[in-house]
Amino acid sequence: MGKDTVNFSCHSCGHCCTEVVCLPTPADVRRIVANTGEKPSKFLEFLTPEELEGVDDDDPTWLECKGDKYIMALARVPWRKKKAELRRGRDFHCHFLNEKTGYCKIYEARPILCRLYPFKLEESKKGKYKGFGLHDDVECPKHDDGVVQTKPLHKLYLKDEKAQKEYDGLVESFNEGSSKKKRPEDFLEMFL
Ligand code: SF4
Ligand code: SF4
Repeated sequence: MGKDTVNFSCHSCGHCCTEVVCLPTPADVRRIVANTGEKPSKFLEFLTPEELEGVDDDDPTWLECKGDKYIMALARVPWRKKKAELRRGRDFHCHFLNEKTGYCKIYEARPILCRLYPFKLEESKKGKYKGFGLHDDVECPKHDDGVVQTKPLHKLYLKDEKAQKEYDGLVESFNEGSSKKKRPEDFLEMFL
């Protein structure tokens, strides 16, 4: 952990684009649509608590529809060719992963969560910014043979915090709506 730098380098193991479900904010979705022209219905899915581990029950981004709960995620798609990945138990990958190259197809427009992984904001007990470290509870191998500047990470973090606030407010309004025909996909109409 460091105030100005953090020791880390990505070794492109692929874990975060194959075994982690990415949860974009509405701001991420708008940026992806603006950059790719893709329809959100093609690259998003709405997952139930049974389909997704690691998100608290009381997370403010659960969408409520007819007694069920859903969360907005980047769609996962089954591997078509890579037998080695299937052998490793990686059945799915992110919709935006290029199977041939192993790179993200929307790198410049990717969600902020993808940019911040596996970094973790460190704060004092009083909430004072102390820098960035690496999340303990993620499966990134966390190689420390590189140096990453924390200033741009902090800027991204603050941008994401703003986006999350917008997200929470939109979900709150969505959940207040009482239409019996409400579907999780209808949430998109609130910000696109
Ligand atoms: S959007 Fe790109 S970086 Fe993010 S999980 Fe998908 S492929 Fe990986
Ligand atoms: S899990 Fe870590 S090392 Fe692997 S691709 Fe993601 S950031 Fe890079």
